[in-house]
Amino acid sequence: MEGEARVKLSQQIIEVGWRLVKSELTDGTSGNISARCGDGTSVLMTPTGQDYRTLTERDLVQVEIESGRATGRWKPTSEWRLHVAIYQARPDINAVIHHHSTWASAVAVARKTIPVLLDEAADIGPIPTATYAPSASPELAEVVLRELGSCGNAVLLANHGVVVVGRHLAEAMRRALEVERLAKIYIGAEILGGAHPLEDADVSRNRAFFETYRAGTPDGEVATDLPPLVDQAGARG
Ligand SMILES: [Zn+2]
Repeated sequence: MEGEARVKLSQQIIEVGWRLVKSELTDGTSGNISARCGDGTSVLMTPTGQDYRTLTERDLVQVEIESGRATGRWKPTSEWRLHVAIYQARPDINAVIHHHSTWASAVAVARKTIPVLLDEAADIGPIPTATYAPSASPELAEVVLRELGSCGNAVLLANHGVVVVGRHLAEAMRRALEVERLAKIYIGAEILGGAHPLEDADVSRNRAFFETYRAGTPDGEVATDLPPLVDQAGARG
């Protein structure tokens, strides 16, 4: 992947890294981000161990989806197998975000499934916890794919964190935030006496409504750019 397209995709990945930090979904180094390149045969991903706040375009690593061969000055994230396995299995997916946020990880430690709790969360669907597999292992990719299936959008990793996918980085970022919010609501509702999930028919109706509602918005298929994350003085926050 060359030129302007690579620069644009790199900038979006760096922007998502900043948003994960700003949203307190990561301390700066945990988790990882990737996006499918325009040619469809490779992905750009974050390198291993580097703080998102110091990441530059030159730090990102290009990995071939078929072979796993990496090109770049650093090693790719240790979870590169998980990312590549998702792109291999799901041609509809162009962005993957993995993080270790507190409340989603709490549900992952309890090894529960977050049901569909809110109208606007219908597109994410139930969020299951995958069978435990160690970080960075080939087994982790297998258990996540089993839960993700052909249309899943988010999976909790037992005793570890969460992975979300999207048609583009903006959609994956929205889901990264949404899973953490849903985990908080789920835990709160359980404390209050028990969560009441939506009925299947209402999930289908809401899914259709929000798909239309979001089309053409910054989160929709038409406009996929992430607006810059700047404070009032124009400096990156
Ligand atoms: Zn992790």
